Amino acid sequence: MKRPKFIIDQMCGRLAKWLRLMGYDAVYFDDINDEELINIAKREERIILTRDTRLVKRKIIANGYVKALMVSSDMLDDQLKQLVNYFKLKCDKKLERCIECNSELESVSKSEAKSKVPPYVYRTQNKFCRCSSCGRYYWRGTHWEKIQAKLKDIC
Ligand SMILES: [Zn+2]
Repeated sequence: MKRPKFIIDQMCGRLAKWLRLMGYDAVYFDDINDEELINIAKREERIILTRDTRLVKRKIIANGYVKALMVSSDMLDDQLKQLVNYFKLKCDKKLERCIECNSELESVSKSEAKSKVPPYVYRTQNKFCRCSSCGRYYWRGTHWEKIQAKLKDIC
């Protein structure tokens, strides 16, 4: 099955980062109207995640031309649980996608990362990735372990 791609409305913004952490393509815009949201979903075959009952009642969505899921809770953990169950999402322990901008990450050598990450991180980590778009560096540090523990609870 193809990995689902998402577009997230303002009411569930925090979901975007968590979906990216799980390796899923999830776009989020601070300021976007329903028309734009639907157009992007349609053009890029994204599933809309929303808390807006009016939006999911739109004809184009009700008729199935654009897919949308009504997110049932305000709580992040419950939202993630709903998505994991509904889409059978996999909580891959991979660093694949930039949490900030949703672009794909590329592996970089330890020497390349040297001047870009804190010295302690450089000493203790061996694998580094860089966002191909915004240039942010990633590694599996203590923060990463905490995130994985949370995902383990949910998935
Ligand atoms: Zn980025």
